[in-house]
Amino acid sequence: MKKLLSIALFIFLLVGCSSNARPVNNNEIKIVTTIFPITDLTQKVTGESVTQLLPDSGANAHTWEPTPQDIFLLEEADVFIYNGAGMEEWVEDVLDSLGNEELLVIEASKDVAKIDGHGHAHAGVDPHTWSSPKTAKTQLETIGQALMSEFEDKADDYKKNIEKTVTLFEELDKEYETALKDLPNRILVVQHEAYGYLTHDYGLQQIGIEGLVPTSEPDPARMVDIIKLVKEYDVKTIFFEENVSDRVAQTLANETGADTAVLNTLAFKNENNDDLIQMMRNNLQVLVEGLEQ
Ligand SMILES: [Zn+2]
Repeated sequence: MKKLLSIALFIFLLVGCSSNARPVNNNEIKIVTTIFPITDLTQKVTGESVTQLLPDSGANAHTWEPTPQDIFLLEEADVFIYNGAGMEEWVEDVLDSLGNEELLVIEASKDVAKIDGHGHAHAGVDPHTWSSPKTAKTQLETIGQALMSEFEDKADDYKKNIEKTVTLFEELDKEYETALKDLPNRILVVQHEAYGYLTHDYGLQQIGIEGLVPTSEPDPARMVDIIKLVKEYDVKTIFFEENVSDRVAQTLANETGADTAVLNTLAFKNENNDDLIQMMRNNLQVLVEGLEQ
């Protein structure tokens, strides 16, 4: 009996592997993602929930690493979607070690034109590729195209969802263009440099107090430089982040007389459960208020 079962399983596996396009219904597609923006963009394509590896609170997206349970999820998954561009440094090693040969792997940032992260980390590439409405739209399309070619029987539904979301990002992009183009102050002093694509796309400049990663303490010389710069360019607002101590930003604000405001890095879901588009809209309001004074 045991032998018969294993023969049946063997035949099932053979048949199961013989087709490239997977004829599964949506509920059976197991998609695993890494960080919130990838989760949100993927759900906008499929309309279904996914399994996200990083917790939405208490994690540092730059230093997080998967547990054995996370590896098990990847062994069982149909699709794995990560940001890439150096954001998840563990991905290459983990993918090499997996036995799951059927896994479709999508690097969401692969079609985004990369910008330099000023050499603080990640071989010069800025990994925060989701921060602008323009680059987030590109990532949506990359994820969408890959899922459409893999799951042909869902492609029509995915296509409609993608088109609808592309329109929303294009509207948001216009809002950003209009709201940001005439602001007198164009320098963003931020806690860590998570907004490179945003500032690049809309003609702003970011100065990171702590560089590209939020855990590093600024050295005293850098603090002196930033205080000088804040005074010289009459910067009115120091932007810090949700979920991270604002001690350094607060010190800087006290030293210079600038205000502080909270700008979201969009790497994690917020308390209101807003989607990425709403969070970007919130950020735009914070930016306008912080830069127009
Ligand atoms: Zn970051």
